[in-house]
Amino acid sequence: MSRQTDIVADSPAGVERAAALLRGGELVAFPTETVYGLGADATDDRAVAAIFETKGRPQFNPLIVHCADAEMARRLVVFDERADLLAETCWPGPLTLVLPRRPDSGLSLLVSAGLDSVAVRMPAHPTAHRLLAATGRPVAAPSANRSGAVSPTTAAHVQESLGGRIPLILAAGRCEIGLESTVLDLTGDAPALLRPGGATREEIKALIGPVRLPDADPERPLSPGQLSSHYAPRAGVRLNAQTVEAGEALLTFGPDLRKGERMLNLSETGDLAEAAANLFAHLRALDRTGATTIAVAPIPEEGLGMAINDRLRRAAAPRPGA
Ligand code: AMP
Ligand code: MG
Repeated sequence: MSRQTDIVADSPAGVERAAALLRGGELVAFPTETVYGLGADATDDRAVAAIFETKGRPQFNPLIVHCADAEMARRLVVFDERADLLAETCWPGPLTLVLPRRPDSGLSLLVSAGLDSVAVRMPAHPTAHRLLAATGRPVAAPSANRSGAVSPTTAAHVQESLGGRIPLILAAGRCEIGLESTVLDLTGDAPALLRPGGATREEIKALIGPVRLPDADPERPLSPGQLSSHYAPRAGVRLNAQTVEAGEALLTFGPDLRKGERMLNLSETGDLAEAAANLFAHLRALDRTGATTIAVAPIPEEGLGMAINDRLRRAAAPRPGA
């Protein structure tokens, strides 16, 4: 479906319009000092699902949550001393911190792609800052381009890639850094560099000591999205299930007349965006029923269905060490 994409220069009216769209569950592209981001209200499942749909991303990777200030980030994740120090020194700036998610964060489970951590960042770009402050909510944003394309550093790049798919691009010239943020994982004892970027390893090391480089070991790849089994419920997962066996829970999709206590429907109307928005919450809920296995009905391999099936295949893949 094609729609008009307006490019609006950074101005009080432009920022207000972009913030209102975000609060209404729409997507808005906006500049940061790294690259242009495709933003959505990070507390809105449907809006976050729309990011993957709009980018045509075949996988659910966890997204970076952009915050107006460190206080906003502290309400979403648990900071430790290392995070305190890095945030004080490097924020606002191109450093993303992966930290344990607070149970009451209110964030969509889709921003974490099912993990118990969230990547947070406070961008330095004044337009981004004004937009985040005006929105008053955390904003999930990957780069504002179709999947597989190069990250955009001007509003024109965004228009080329996503024109006709989003209502608004907030424009403010060229991105200063033009390279994605550094992603640092602080969920373990040893800080690990998940992605090199705008903040250097030396800078980080000077503040918190040695930083582990990601292993080249294919069993422990850089991005959690690359792991064959990375988000897996406790229960086993059986794909393309036509029937439900004893002891199994059922995750279904589309019109389904079956009824059961251990049954959840990703979308009764067969809407893949709704299904994506429900995926992680439903998997968790079915896992909590104590079922041995979650049987999953077939989901069409088209549009967001590709990302949903990718994630489900990972959930069903043989578990490392199992
Ligand atoms: P992009 O979507 O292109 O901005 O990339 C986001 C990067 O942050 C990817 O490399 C993700 O794997 C990484 N990332 C985001 N959230 C998390 C998380 N919770 N745990 C680990 N890595 C994350
Ligand atoms: Mg990207």
